[in-house]
Amino acid sequence: MHPLQSTADPSSSDAVGSKSIAGGAGRAPLTADVIIAGCGPTGAMLAAELRLHDVRVLVLEKETEPASFVRIVGLHIRSLELMAMRGLLERLLEHGRRRPARGFFAAIDAPAPEGLDSAHAYLLGIPQPVLVHLLEERAMDLGAQVRRGRAVAGVEQDDDGVTVELTDGEQLRSHYLVGCDGGRSTVRGALGVGFRGEPARTETLMGEMEVGVPLEEVAATVAEIGGTDKRFWLRPFGGGVHQVVVPAAGVSDRATPPTLEDFRQQLRTIAGTDFGVHSPRWLSRFGDATRQAERYRVGRVLLAGDAAHVHPPIGGQGLNLGVQDAVNLGWKLAAQVRGWAPEALLDTYQAERHPVAADVLDNTRAQMELLSSEPGPQAVRRLLTELMAFDEVNRHLIEKITAIGIRYDLGEGPDLLGRRLRDIEVRQGHLYGLLHRGRGLLLDRTERLTVGGWADRVDRLADPTAAVDVPCLLLRPDGHVAWIGDGQQDLDDHLSRWFGEPAG
Ligand SMILES: Cc1cc2nc3c(=O)[nH]c(=O)nc-3n(C[C@H](O)[C@H](O)[C@H](O)COP(=O)(O)OP(=O)(O)OC[C@H]3O[C@@H](n4cnc5c(N)ncnc54)[C@H](O)[C@@H]3O)c2cc1C
Repeated sequence: MHPLQSTADPSSSDAVGSKSIAGGAGRAPLTADVIIAGCGPTGAMLAAELRLHDVRVLVLEKETEPASFVRIVGLHIRSLELMAMRGLLERLLEHGRRRPARGFFAAIDAPAPEGLDSAHAYLLGIPQPVLVHLLEERAMDLGAQVRRGRAVAGVEQDDDGVTVELTDGEQLRSHYLVGCDGGRSTVRGALGVGFRGEPARTETLMGEMEVGVPLEEVAATVAEIGGTDKRFWLRPFGGGVHQVVVPAAGVSDRATPPTLEDFRQQLRTIAGTDFGVHSPRWLSRFGDATRQAERYRVGRVLLAGDAAHVHPPIGGQGLNLGVQDAVNLGWKLAAQVRGWAPEALLDTYQAERHPVAADVLDNTRAQMELLSSEPGPQAVRRLLTELMAFDEVNRHLIEKITAIGIRYDLGEGPDLLGRRLRDIEVRQGHLYGLLHRGRGLLLDRTERLTVGGWADRVDRLADPTAAVDVPCLLLRPDGHVAWIGDGQQDLDDHLSRWFGEPAG
């Protein structure tokens, strides 16, 4: 097999829900329903979502060990809501630190708007490796297989399934493959899907290491540079270790981490001293490329997370976006594998998530401009700072960054249609507590409606006291409102639209 070969008709909407792979000559036996390339936050979250529906999942991760770097990432409101919806939030809170929901847009520090529409209106700072570990552990507890030290090298698909070739030549086969293998995605490359956008203009070195000069000397130099517009910080991280962030000498296309010598050189250039840095714990680099995959699906192969979109870390949205991709895709792909997906359900993944990421790319472009020290962008920044004193502007930007403002285009209807529903109180406690299994939910305040033949996929909660201002609504497994109304026939039509044919 050519390592970068893809044989499916790229225009195929592919509504096949086949359970058996025709054993063509030389084909590997079926290993899993879905193979996921990459066990980062997106891949681990997706694996768990698929397992909620008994889909056999194999995750292939190139690294033999979990990442050793300690990058603190911020989980925004919508991701926290999703974690609450799946019963994971309490565990994350044990490992993270809450911060107020403010200062997200270009680090302009406007106060958090009053009454943000969420029971989880804060930011949770948590080390990325801890988060990935918890997500991976949950996926495995639910029955996903994770194989480390297994890197995907090639992909070939046909009408029946996907053959995945590993770097050691082993071939595995599944009904579907999802590339969650990061910004340099091998899967995306194998599909030949374009990754349009702007290349990196700058690169930043980031790492943890010890310093070899007195701390007062460090503090004085850091304070001096703090008064300039240089992208630099060096701050104590506990245990004698300092976190160092400094611009790289140029932009490289290398996936390899930088060396300590790279840090020393750049520190001397920026700060006039290398602070005697030594004993690094980890060293990394990141760029400010802004790119998005032109398509999220080619036949039986899909892309999610950084494999589908990259952008500078300003606003802390990349990981959040990936986790949210996973929750949008998980139940749709599961429906496809289980054989009950309505035609075109799987294609709604791209229809819904591509515009969301395009909007994030745009807001990071805008934020990056606002960080420039040029007089023009600085003037726009001052103007925006003034505008953010208006509650509606501030609220709009926070809802954008935290992803609670998203409304999928599900057709004409009330404003709530297509939006996520906040965690409202219901007779049994909290609504999100009823969504742990990743099923649909009919919230019926009339106590008249039924989910009939869809009861194997959709739960019903009859509760006239539920704190929502509509008679009935249908929630998809990702917590978005798919229907609002009070008529049984109308409901049945929408149950068919999202959950396929009713059971016999
Ligand atoms: C400095 C910095 C700060 C950030 N802060 C935030 C923040 O606060 N909030 C936020 O939301 N985001 C933040 N991000 C972005 C966030 O880290 C990424 O968006 C996120 O890691 C993407 O997750 P992913 O699972 O899609 O991809 P990745 O995390 O890149 O995971 C991909 C996985 O695939 C594996 N892999 C790669 N190739 C193969 C292969 N061929 N076969 C098998 N496995 C493979 C990799 O080893 C890796 O484990 C930050 C990024 C940076 C650089």
